[in-house]
Amino acid sequence: MDLGKFIRDIPDFPKKGILFKDITPLLGDSKGFTEAVDKIADHFKDKKIDRIAGIESRGFILGSALALRMGVGFIPIRKPGKLPYKTRRCEYKLEYGSDAVEIHEDAVRKNQRILLVDDVIATGGTAVAAKTLLRDLGADLVGIAFLVELKELKGCEKLAGENIYSVLSY
Ligand code: AMP
Repeated sequence: MDLGKFIRDIPDFPKKGILFKDITPLLGDSKGFTEAVDKIADHFKDKKIDRIAGIESRGFILGSALALRMGVGFIPIRKPGKLPYKTRRCEYKLEYGSDAVEIHEDAVRKNQRILLVDDVIATGGTAVAAKTLLRDLGADLVGIAFLVELKELKGCEKLAGENIYSVLSY
């Protein structure tokens, strides 16, 4: 199936100059959503994944479906101030200013085999920060999966050496 037909381009959202990749048409199509999740699950099926870690918020949708599909648990990586227990934080630079992600300090056991998931990789800052949190907790980061990779922004270059799989790339 051509999954690209379910990704809608929204120019100038959330601000001017950004071409937003809207994945909601894919999520709304049972066959399309299933095929996207199955492709990621198939790619990593022999990697003995222990947990899926998903990045807020669209990484939660994809990541929890993937966790159930692979028969493993899910770890949320969230925006600051959202997680209720003791957290670790990693800040990262945006074009203007900075942002951060957090994880519960007991979310990962040492050497647990983690697959990190998000909907879109653009500049890669978010994924690098999430990777740092997981590694600092002792995770064995087995792979990183995206539904959409925006090649022009070269985010995957910041994740060089990782086992990266993107369902669609533009
Ligand atoms: P980045 O840190 O630049 O790789 O940005 C990745 C995060 O921002 C992901 O969580 C995406 O959901 C979101 N994002 C960035 N750019 C886009 C875009 N053009 N379309 C949709 N989501 C985006």
